[in-house]
Amino acid sequence: MVEALPEKGVPGEQILAELSELRAADLPTHGGRLFAYVYDPALDGLDELARQAHAISDHVNGLDPTAFPSLLAMENALVGAAARLLGGGDGTVGSVTSGGTESLILAVKAARDSRPELTTPRLVIPSTAHAAFAKAAHYLRVALDVVPVGADLRADPAAVQAAVDEDTVLVAASAPSYAHGVVDPIPELAAIAGERGVRFHVDACFGGWLLPYLRRLGAGLPAFDFTVPGVTSISVDLHKYAYAPKGVSILLHRDEALRLPQYFAYAGWPGYTMINPVISSTRSGGPIAAALATLRHIGDAGYLELAARTRGAVATLAEAVRRTGGVRLFAPPETSVVCLAADDVDVDLFVLADELAARGWHTQPQMAYGDMPATIHLTVTAAVAGTATDFGPDLAAAVTATRAAGPADVPPALLEAAGALTPEMVTPELIAGLAEGLGLGGGDFTRMAAVNSLLDVAPPALREALLTGFLSLLQRPGRATE
Ligand SMILES: *Cc1c(COP(=O)(O)O)cnc(C)c1O
Repeated sequence: MVEALPEKGVPGEQILAELSELRAADLPTHGGRLFAYVYDPALDGLDELARQAHAISDHVNGLDPTAFPSLLAMENALVGAAARLLGGGDGTVGSVTSGGTESLILAVKAARDSRPELTTPRLVIPSTAHAAFAKAAHYLRVALDVVPVGADLRADPAAVQAAVDEDTVLVAASAPSYAHGVVDPIPELAAIAGERGVRFHVDACFGGWLLPYLRRLGAGLPAFDFTVPGVTSISVDLHKYAYAPKGVSILLHRDEALRLPQYFAYAGWPGYTMINPVISSTRSGGPIAAALATLRHIGDAGYLELAARTRGAVATLAEAVRRTGGVRLFAPPETSVVCLAADDVDVDLFVLADELAARGWHTQPQMAYGDMPATIHLTVTAAVAGTATDFGPDLAAAVTATRAAGPADVPPALLEAAGALTPEMVTPELIAGLAEGLGLGGGDFTRMAAVNSLLDVAPPALREALLTGFLSLLQRPGRATE
């Protein structure tokens, strides 16, 4: 256990050694074998450059751009680059945020506050839209209308049209969706919103920095950016396919009038007048400088090359899935996601995820939702170009091992107990007991099939309660760590 406030200060060298030791328990952020959470271009020297840029600006405060014009210049440069990449015009403006979730919350806030006369503002999204929209709706007390997607996993324009009413402040869709990597029919949806005078947000947090390059490479993807009439805002995360270190996303608006209700201003106290474009007030210049350094170092031609590598890796992984009995592609691999489902009752997908992890491939299991079965998600980045050909044989071996192992071993007593649970019954004591029964007490999360199987059968509200309780159990200062 690390002591954060020792009696006497500790030498820097020792602290760095301790941090490296802590980091050794993490999944590998580099090396092209982790298919979620991290985005790796595998470019020599890029990490070091971003680190140095971060260090130059890490104490600069984004609270007041007149005090720190360097940050204003960097933000304007990043927003300008994003606007140009995404079909923006002279009037396109934007903000630099800390991440996709913040960008989406602010897109919803701007839309809500542009219609102050409404008592029940509503947000319309397809069911495949990112969970951050639900968070935005919850935080901002905006009602959420979730519209089922079509059999092709894309937003259904007719269903979206039917969901829009006079209280709708925003319609949103994905380019592409996180779970499946497919692009919603943005032109059709934007036209529907535009006809009603409703704002339309394109959530390109995931693929916004990749799609323009895939389109240049000839991928048959539809227009999704400001060249599409009716698109009023777009979010794009620089800490995803722009390969910047964590903490930077951009929210673009077609014009300044659309952006204004995003700002918060307050002069009613004795301190400084606070004018905030984003949620944070004090914020570090570090991530912004690191992102700028990353963009300038890779450059447009570099991103095109990285997109080509990513596209090649996706094709290799998708072909491996097609060739392997027992699994199938669940979604067309049209962007940078490979999403696979079981194709045989003998293949338990959660066991398969564990078997892949045992072979050094860290994927992201996705629970069943509505008519959709459980799936395994792979976010593919340029680094995977170096490992993709090794995936096929390991996938085949993992499927064989999965068939042999049979379904996950959930202790029958636990399954029975879980079947009778309701969210209200979930207490810290119950969570501690469940964690112990599932072997999670010691902090070893390598074999998760039983846990995932249990969560998969839990109704969404119960799953939320269980995982909230579990996270809360983990997040205690006194928790023993190995
Ligand atoms: C990652 C993602 C988000 C949320 O972004 P964070 O940076 O994790 O807050 C929103 N939408 C999509 C499509 C994403 O992929």
